[in-house]
Amino acid sequence: MKLLFLGTGAAGNSKRSEAEITEGSRRCASLLIDDTILVDVSRQSYDYLIKQGKDPSAVTDIFLSHAHGDHFNREVLLSYAAAAKEKLRFWCHRGAVEHLNLTEEDLQVIDLHPLEICDTVETGGVTVTALPANHLVGSFTCAEKPLHYIIEKDGKKIYYGCDGGWYTAIEWEYLRANKVVFDAVILDATVGDDAGNFRIATHNNIAMIQILTLALRQNEMLTENALLIATHFAASCYPKDRSHDEIFAELGMLAAADGRIIEV
Ligand SMILES: [Zn+2]
Ligand SMILES: [Zn+2]
Repeated sequence: MKLLFLGTGAAGNSKRSEAEITEGSRRCASLLIDDTILVDVSRQSYDYLIKQGKDPSAVTDIFLSHAHGDHFNREVLLSYAAAAKEKLRFWCHRGAVEHLNLTEEDLQVIDLHPLEICDTVETGGVTVTALPANHLVGSFTCAEKPLHYIIEKDGKKIYYGCDGGWYTAIEWEYLRANKVVFDAVILDATVGDDAGNFRIATHNNIAMIQILTLALRQNEMLTENALLIATHFAASCYPKDRSHDEIFAELGMLAAADGRIIEV
């Protein structure tokens, strides 16, 4: 699987277009897999995908982690749908549908597939399982459950763990019960070394990431050469004098960066 990171930042740039992104600042989180599967449809993802020399009409399926404004933009979704060769498939948690504000007209060009927790679907050459993330959209009683994904293709398995802090009990026990072994894991690293940050219940800091990856290793959920990838960085939570590459290399991890391709 070829992973192209189209955005690796937290919510900071959610309202800025690609043209308004300044040098050195990160776009909102979005990931393109093998040119055809997109995870999250951020404000900049469409224009930046084209800038990376990719063809938006190759995207057949979009999986949404959750409907926060840094991961979902309706107009950008419609751009993908307009470019698509066939009706674009869009996958999201059942409770996210009400936040998408899709009209009847939109649904003429978007094939909407609401997901339940622990659903597994096969589409566009991938097998994808939706797991519940420890994250929150909207009010405390909101019906949307943010999702993490297991994405499998050609015998390789990756974990997409953004947004969300820790594992949820259901997620962790699902991985254990199904003896899931990952070739790569992508983890939310929003709050860096700001250990007491207010986002602590919905995002990871570095100390948490160390424990999360240790637990994966200790419970034999990683292949020998599994890639550990950090993404979704809040700029204010990272030191200015050290690169993300340097910080995560010390942990035996890779830091994702906008435009970076990681082969799994
Ligand atoms: Zn986010
Ligand atoms: Zn979020």
